[in-house]
Amino acid sequence: MGMTEYQIERQKISLKPCPFCGGEARLKKHQRLEQTWYVQCKDCGIRTANSVQPPYESWKTAMNYPVRLWNRRIEDGNNGL
Ligand SMILES: [Zn+2]
Repeated sequence: MGMTEYQIERQKISLKPCPFCGGEARLKKHQRLEQTWYVQCKDCGIRTANSVQPPYESWKTAMNYPVRLWNRRIEDGNNGL
């Protein structure tokens, strides 16, 4: 299964398939919190933590953080466990 690639707010987003069900993932903006994003599987609903934009970083960074979290896999060697 390949990556899902699309554009959101002029950013190119590349997301791996869901590690649990193989479903398609999407980057989503939090409905209430400003500049807060997370990645969620469209099929099983599993999601990353919210990323909150620190005031010294750009909105692009706020979007990239959950994408990095989602695409990280244990075999990448940095799972922290
Ligand atoms: Zn899933």
